[in-house]
Amino acid sequence: MKIICIGRNYREHAKELNNAVPEKPVFFMKPDTALLKDNKPFYYPDFSKEVHYETEIVLKIHRNGKHIEEKFAHKYYEEIGIGIDFTARDLQTEQKKKGLPWEIAKAFDGAAPIGRFVNKNNFPDINDLNFSLKINGELRQQGHTADMMFSFDHIITYVSQFVSLKTGDLIFTGTPSGVGPTKINDHFEAFIEGEKLLDFYVK
Ligand code: MG
Repeated sequence: MKIICIGRNYREHAKELNNAVPEKPVFFMKPDTALLKDNKPFYYPDFSKEVHYETEIVLKIHRNGKHIEEKFAHKYYEEIGIGIDFTARDLQTEQKKKGLPWEIAKAFDGAAPIGRFVNKNNFPDINDLNFSLKINGELRQQGHTADMMFSFDHIITYVSQFVSLKTGDLIFTGTPSGVGPTKINDHFEAFIEGEKLLDFYVK
């Protein structure tokens, strides 16, 4: 399986990192070794001094497809969850300055914690979802899927023009503003519409 991540999908987040707001979705990938499941701890990597959290809604692809038309895109995912796109911001900033790829900052082991998935039909409208992150009990990020520049269906259509999607693939759909650094002993709890779906510690 593969993990596809959308960058700069929320205007306020693009602005907070001084990035241009994109005209098309921006995507990159993480390998399956980045996955962190079952609320296992995230081990802070020793190659970075500035690991940031980015809280994102995650789609789980449940059928194979390529060149998916937008009107059919909703058939390619049934479950959604919440995940953290951990980013070694110091390494990413260096790469961006040089115009180099981001993998060193995004693809490392454990850089993609994911929580429990729930059926999207549990929610009246997935394009109108609130999600949030608490660290040590304090609200750090709050997002609303209505603020996405590119909808879930549009993301699937766009990405599948370039990359075939397969059952079990995950798509991280971008972070709202409020990203920031994490540190050892932090306690992460992430929610969709008030339901806690992810809960882990940094070690
Ligand atoms: Mg991200």
